[in-house]
Amino acid sequence: MRTYDKFYINGQWVDPAGQGTGDVTNPATGAISAQVPLGNVEDVDAAVAAAKGAFPTWSRTSAAERESFLRQLAAESEKRNADLTQTILDELGMPIQHAAAFQVDPLEIICNSFADKAKQMEAEEQVGNSIVIKEPIGVCAMINPWNYPIWQMIGKVAPAIAAGCTMVVKAASQTPSHLFIFAEMCDAVGLPAGVFNIVHGSGKDIGPRLSSHPDVDLVSFTGSTAAGIQVSHAAAPTVKRVFLELGGKSPYIITEEADLKAAIDFGINDIMVNTGQTCNALTRMIVQESVYDEAVDLAKAKAESLVVGDPSDPDVFVGPMASEGQKQTVIDYINKGIAEGARLVTGGTHMPEGLTQGHYVAPTVFAEVTNDMTIAQEEIFGPVLPLIRYSTIDEAIEIANDTPYGLAAAVWAGDQDEAIAIAKRIRAGQCAINGGEANHEAPFGGYKESGNGREFGEAGLHEYCELKAMQL
Ligand code: NAP
Repeated sequence: MRTYDKFYINGQWVDPAGQGTGDVTNPATGAISAQVPLGNVEDVDAAVAAAKGAFPTWSRTSAAERESFLRQLAAESEKRNADLTQTILDELGMPIQHAAAFQVDPLEIICNSFADKAKQMEAEEQVGNSIVIKEPIGVCAMINPWNYPIWQMIGKVAPAIAAGCTMVVKAASQTPSHLFIFAEMCDAVGLPAGVFNIVHGSGKDIGPRLSSHPDVDLVSFTGSTAAGIQVSHAAAPTVKRVFLELGGKSPYIITEEADLKAAIDFGINDIMVNTGQTCNALTRMIVQESVYDEAVDLAKAKAESLVVGDPSDPDVFVGPMASEGQKQTVIDYINKGIAEGARLVTGGTHMPEGLTQGHYVAPTVFAEVTNDMTIAQEEIFGPVLPLIRYSTIDEAIEIANDTPYGLAAAVWAGDQDEAIAIAKRIRAGQCAINGGEANHEAPFGGYKESGNGREFGEAGLHEYCELKAMQL
């Protein structure tokens, strides 16, 4: 069991003011895998004060210096890769075949990506009689979810370091350990005191203080739309910048000319990875009616071929849900789908075969789903795929856009040009074309209730900048 009893604030491991301790449960076994301190608003205030104190000096460091720290963190992440991967297995339950590639390896990739971009902070643009420069926005509060904890954390921290910001970071209660390890990494590379600080505690207790703190200039939040709205309310009186990366209900249009087997395999892999706990998962498969029945059969066969079980087994593709509460939420949605008349094709509410403990849900496919059903409208956050039938492409696009969300989408059509033409009509921040893979250099973020920010790539750096125009 991992045990932490201090926060990393102002370059020191300090005793928390908060008195409580939080247990983290391994979702595959039910055992306690970590114990962490639970902070309070005094801890938040101490961390923000440290970040504020460090900002004047850190913000004036050269881009080359900040680039060097990011390169050192990238190198350090290789040393800590095994520890970090283990935290993902123990706290999230993501299978070993995905944990390093999807959760931990991006740490090195993203640090190097923003190391490359740090020099952009020193670029000057001449606009008429003005010189326009970028400056770091200031003290940043970063609040992260449990489903891609390391990827989300570094998608905020690396650009903030590159820009010259200082920060206070909070991880989700379910997945805290990586943040303590990352603080050890910052300490190991000698990042100046106060640049990177951590606090931990329940979001409901310390989140409002992080969001509303008058000395915080920007809050970057990734999580549910409901909590994102609360963050916005809390932040509003101080007019700080608020970036929200929220939930999704992403459509995947498959036309009759698509390579159907490849398209279905892509879609099933996408929804089942991380047991459906992926914000941009393709959670509504919208299939042309002439190939719909065949698509349902292919989806069933593919879902049933995936190995479910112990995340440490290299053959396992689908691990447990991250928590008992999340499992119950998913089961409730499956029951709702059945009650509203969708046809359960495979999976369901029973424990997957051969498993007796852990928060498991079998890969589940529903057919005959209409877009007004609850399972087509709400974010389930589990291994549950509804297949929706369409007749014309206009109808498919109408269905795709008929949700409050707009995080991601996918199209598989007969050729790339046709797929791109369809993608341009979908209101979403990302779209996979005929099986296109994720790209860490492309902007990531949502339309509508999926958020208002863009992380990663150049857009990710710009989130942490102010623009200054100097008239000559
Ligand atoms: P969540 O319940 O909203 O929690 C996210 C974070 O916010 C956690 O650290 C949580 O702390 C904290 N929090 C809770 N209430 C808060 C409040 N009132 N003020 C400030 N912070 C608060 O979301 P989750 O269940 O961890 O994550 C799943 C959601 O995140 C899904 O909707 C998913 O789609 C979304 N997500 C979006 C993206 C994206 O980039 N768009 C990426 C990943 C996930 P505690 O853990 O201590 O409660």
